[in-house]
Amino acid sequence: MADLPLNLELLQDTLQWQPSPQQQLLFQKLYQEILAGNQQLNLTRLTEPDEFWEKHLWDSLRGLQPWLSGSQQGKRGLSVVDIGTGGGFPGVPAAMVLADATVMLLDSTRKKVSFLTQLAASLELPSIRTLTARAEVVGQQKQQRDRYDLALIRAVGPATVCAEYCLPLLQVGGTAVLYRGQWSPEEETALRQAAQELGGKLDHVDAFVTPLTQSTRHCIHVVKVAETPAQFPRPVGIPVQKPLA
Ligand code: SAM
Repeated sequence: MADLPLNLELLQDTLQWQPSPQQQLLFQKLYQEILAGNQQLNLTRLTEPDEFWEKHLWDSLRGLQPWLSGSQQGKRGLSVVDIGTGGGFPGVPAAMVLADATVMLLDSTRKKVSFLTQLAASLELPSIRTLTARAEVVGQQKQQRDRYDLALIRAVGPATVCAEYCLPLLQVGGTAVLYRGQWSPEEETALRQAAQELGGKLDHVDAFVTPLTQSTRHCIHVVKVAETPAQFPRPVGIPVQKPLA
């Protein structure tokens, strides 16, 4: 199997951050395990080393930049949830780089979650927790609601739906990072409105291009400023069928 490039200089230039030797080893192992898992499960179509590095690893880390080298740097022990984690992105890289964090990987597909549970064991990442469930159900569970400092969500649905999945799980003061490709003024208006209904506030939109293929990306940071009303998230399927804005 091909090795994953680490592109340490690119990481330094774009994230002002470098992985430790142990983290470099973990990235390599993650790539090999995902390739192996892909033989049984449809985890990702991005299997070429450069593609994997840019679209999975770098992209996952880019959304965490404030916690790696920016305004939130140095915060330890974060409680993180990755909603609709699929093959583990961005949650598994988050577990590798955020100091003392615990990371809950949540997905509704049992097979993917079983794979991630095994992956966490073979990479020896005890900070990872896994849960097979729908975000709409988990967001109404007492032991999960209002609990997380950071909610990550990539490629799960429209931004307003993502906000309805994320905000109930955050404690007041926590942040949701919505990983998006393109981003339009219409989406931003809808998200602002939905966030307000959910007790959130759009904090900032981080626009950038990926370092190898110059693809457009946005990370939307929404901060929870008030309790989310009890009716959110609405029952399974409703956030998608009847988006908030
Ligand atoms: N986040 C990963 C990534 O970016 O590579 C996977 C994205 S994949 C396109 C979407 C994932 O979200 C699927 O694994 C699906 O099972 C999960 N998903 C969709 N709706 C969900 C929900 N309401 N609750 C939990 N998981 C959900």
